[in-house]
Amino acid sequence: MADNVVSAKTALDAITSRMERAAARFGQSAQKVELIAVSKTFSAEVIVPFLEAGQRLFAENRVQEAKEKWPSLRERFAGVELHLIGPLQTNKAREAVALFDVIQTVDRERLAAVLAAEMRRAGRQLPCFVQVNIGAEEQKAGIAVADTVAFVRRCRDEHGLDIVGLMCIPPDGQPAGPFFAQLALLAREAQVPQLSMGMSGDFETAIAMGATHVRVGSALFGHR
Ligand SMILES: *Cc1c(COP(=O)(O)O)cnc(C)c1O
Repeated sequence: MADNVVSAKTALDAITSRMERAAARFGQSAQKVELIAVSKTFSAEVIVPFLEAGQRLFAENRVQEAKEKWPSLRERFAGVELHLIGPLQTNKAREAVALFDVIQTVDRERLAAVLAAEMRRAGRQLPCFVQVNIGAEEQKAGIAVADTVAFVRRCRDEHGLDIVGLMCIPPDGQPAGPFFAQLALLAREAQVPQLSMGMSGDFETAIAMGATHVRVGSALFGHR
């Protein structure tokens, strides 16, 4: 194996074993937690060793950047699953449906309607997460906590979206645990099975609170 592939594998193994230890320690060992490698801002050259080391689940936060990097990477590596984890404008919905396999940032009625229409048009029903503004922060995307359960229901019943879970980014500078716990309760109430929560600094806490997907960038790829 080339040196850069060995380093990628070492980084992946280190995160995976921390994930397993967290799951075991917090009694979530039966729960399968997926590691999503957040490759935003990193070039294809940096991403390739991770693909060669076997990682297939990735996320990007911008449609334009994904379009520049991923079509050629997908040609070289089969089985990639790419998640969108950044805000989506309705005028980019068509491109997003073509480029991504999962949309994690459904957070408003109009976006739900446009995405549903674009998926029907493309004949591609992508699994989606509803993003929740768990800390009620002015500057953050996401549906309000109080509106989440009803919004999930409308996404499913009125728009026909396949909502599989909830996603959140808790506020900076506060302990994340209570926000993750609240997202888990909301998911139960909304009857969705998956929880995308936890990043490089707090993925073990997220696993303790029931995360099914953690989104790890800098701990794998280095500083942005
Ligand atoms: C960048 C980003 C991440 C990864 O953050 P790190 O701290 O680098 O692990 C996770 N989720 C979202 C939504 C992001 O934008």
